[in-house]
Amino acid sequence: MSELAKRVARPEPETPLRDAVVTLGVSAVSIFFGGVVVAALVSEPLAFVLMPIAAAAVLYWVFSRTSRALRYNRTELPGHLAAWQRSWWCSKCGKVFEGG
Ligand SMILES: [Zn+2]
Repeated sequence: MSELAKRVARPEPETPLRDAVVTLGVSAVSIFFGGVVVAALVSEPLAFVLMPIAAAAVLYWVFSRTSRALRYNRTELPGHLAAWQRSWWCSKCGKVFEGG
């Protein structure tokens, strides 16, 4: 995207559900194969300890990121969108003005 396009772009909502599904899918595959590798090369008990810890860490991270994204969409995005609706771009000086 050009600098101008970025400057005048409509503020986009976060996509918490899609992000969570992608992260959980990638993590599940990684943890599964990571666990298989650790079990095969190091020790099975270690894999049985590490996998739930990794899963819990991913769940915690996804949960906090999802709630942050939902909060952004609910509280901050409406203000950004309203400001964007009020703003306009001057093709002479290239500045973005609000109101008018
Ligand atoms: Zn101007």
